[in-house]
Amino acid sequence: MMQNRRLICWMSVLFLLVVVASSAFGQTPKYIILFIGDGMGPNHRILAEKVSQAKGLGKLEMNHLPVRGEAKTNNVQNGTTDSAASATAIACGVKTNNGWLGMKPDETTVDSFVVDAKKAGWKVGIITTDALNGATPAGFYAHVKSRHAADEILAQAAKSGVDFFGGPRFNSNKLDVDKTLREGGYDIVKGKIASDPMPKLPCANLQMGSMAETLQSALRLLENPTGFFIMVESSHIDGCSHGNRFPGAMSATIEMNDAVRVALDFLKKHPEDTLIVTTADHECGGLKIVNANRNPGGLLNVKDPDEVEKIIANDIVGMKPTPGELITNITEGMGLEAVSEKDRTILIDLYQKDKIKGSGGLVNEVKRLMYEQAGILWTTGGHTPANVPTTAAGAGSEAFQGTYENTHIADAIRAYIRQSTKPQASAR
Ligand SMILES: [Zn+2]
Repeated sequence: MMQNRRLICWMSVLFLLVVVASSAFGQTPKYIILFIGDGMGPNHRILAEKVSQAKGLGKLEMNHLPVRGEAKTNNVQNGTTDSAASATAIACGVKTNNGWLGMKPDETTVDSFVVDAKKAGWKVGIITTDALNGATPAGFYAHVKSRHAADEILAQAAKSGVDFFGGPRFNSNKLDVDKTLREGGYDIVKGKIASDPMPKLPCANLQMGSMAETLQSALRLLENPTGFFIMVESSHIDGCSHGNRFPGAMSATIEMNDAVRVALDFLKKHPEDTLIVTTADHECGGLKIVNANRNPGGLLNVKDPDEVEKIIANDIVGMKPTPGELITNITEGMGLEAVSEKDRTILIDLYQKDKIKGSGGLVNEVKRLMYEQAGILWTTGGHTPANVPTTAAGAGSEAFQGTYENTHIADAIRAYIRQSTKPQASAR
């Protein structure tokens, strides 16, 4: 008898564990947080994790979420996308021309799932580390044929119904940003949001604090029983990758993971209702790992390539070194450890011939040596058509397994938002 009771007791514990562990799968989320690393390809993620670990900051949780898939990123012509066409795919579920936002190639407008979220009574937040009317955030609320139409996109933002904007600024040409937002009903907070008094919604948090802090504020402001959608973009991964600036690209990737940690804390509190998705709009820079076994600490020695020009400029106004001395200053300043005599002669020769910039110039040659030493390689200064890793955790995350077009991200999130307004088949 006693034995039986104990057995039943253990079985119910086991049953409970299984229920808790599987509860998030197959459920409809009502709190959705979507992270977009602008320009963040597979190797950005891998290398940023190595950098983070070498700095003692730990793994990148976003690389280890339970569900892992990848999104194809090409635009409607099957060419390499820009952030506008990709944002339209991820937010609206249609492929379009580069530069276009919220519009199909036939020039008709298409709504993002933000419109569905508002209809469902959800709150919506848009967070970025660059202009809030830049291509990626604008893909969620704007309809324009040019991503550069800053005033038009700002005017559309003010009427978008988005409850929370968090970012450094809105760009504008002629429009007064604050006036335009206030006319749209926005409470404007400049700088980090204090917990007391909390701003009222809708709110535009400009000159925001860190990405993680801003997401924290957004979660406090937007949490409600019906639901919310929040998009968080780390935008400088792209800008840095265009310039093959490794340290900046890595810190912007790590910064995104800091915000993912905030989202994971929220998921822990609401495991049955929260979905986290991390993806990218496209890869930038063609970043490759040539020697994965290099000491990860070596990645910390990679300097911003702009430093080469700074050393040259400083030396020219200051010390007036011989070409040999200048090259020594450069190789030491850039942390190059074992430069062969041959490479050194090439560098001196380039300097003497005044070949500083451009392909095959001194700056590029120093960059090549620096990346070679770190075991990495940038293959372009532009975007590439590489698939981007997409990881997910929590309720409904199973939709992000496998390989799919980036429009699938919009389709899946839209479906969840629409399902959330339908009465559930069974009580839970
Ligand atoms: Zn770009």
